[in-house]
Amino acid sequence: MHNARPRVLVLGGTGEGREIAARLADSVDLEVVTSLAGRVRDPRWPEGEVRVGGFGGAEGLAGWLAENDIRALLDATHPFASRITANAHLAARTCEIPFAVCQRPSWAQHPQDRWFPARDLSHAAELVPVLGTRAFLTIGRQGVSAFAEVSGVSFLVRSIDPPTGAMPAPHELILARGPFDVESERELMRRRGIDVVVTKSSGGDQTYAKIVAARQLGLPVIVVERSPAPEGVESFNSPSAAAAWLESTVT
Ligand code: NAP
Repeated sequence: MHNARPRVLVLGGTGEGREIAARLADSVDLEVVTSLAGRVRDPRWPEGEVRVGGFGGAEGLAGWLAENDIRALLDATHPFASRITANAHLAARTCEIPFAVCQRPSWAQHPQDRWFPARDLSHAAELVPVLGTRAFLTIGRQGVSAFAEVSGVSFLVRSIDPPTGAMPAPHELILARGPFDVESERELMRRRGIDVVVTKSSGGDQTYAKIVAARQLGLPVIVVERSPAPEGVESFNSPSAAAAWLESTVT
């Protein structure tokens, strides 16, 4: 059956991406295609049409957008997925289609939080031995190798799928997917004798419990900061606003 609704692409791999797809699943004005990178072995699947895998850089993405007659592009990837954001920005300009970013706000520091900001993962790796000897590394699967050379610290590493590349020695790996609750996070940190936590400034509810647990235990938290969103790009911090933008853009 020919479908005349304009198609839009949502770059996903996040709860925000899934929420946008769900909000627009019944739209009579547009059809959403969600793109996943294909990194997680068993991803949470968005509603509607889904395609999986890289595009082959900005050029590959521009080609894909043109071939699939995509009318607007929304980047709802994780705040730390900066390469795909830069590629998307460029590809949308090449194809002359509207582009926006949906990015959840960073967590705000509570007065009782003991936060140590890090510019990037290498900076975080430098800070770890200054602050503790038993680190809880909760930065996701990617980037764990930045901590491989840290000495005098044992790491409790948690990710959804096993990290690839060099691992810190010594380390213990826990495979788990959020959301996590404060009590179990606090118990995990207490039982394992954690004295420093490393996290990205991810924002959102799914993994915030570790921040509260660290606060309750008085632990220092190394918070890896985000790289800034591309300049001059429309940006939304809620899936509802981003979904409304998609609808208004193509109608
Ligand atoms: P990245 O460094 O910005 O992107 C690396 C490459 O992965 C891109 O150049 C692109 O390959 C491909 N890619 C990324 N997101 C894609 C998507 N949604 N659809 C198709 N291809 C995609 O990204 P990353 O940090 O590896 O993250 C990969 C995915 O995991 C993202 O979708 C992100 O939302 C999700 N995620 C990331 C984090 C994190 O901490 N980084 C946390 C949770 C979820 P080509 O150049 O070949 O197109």
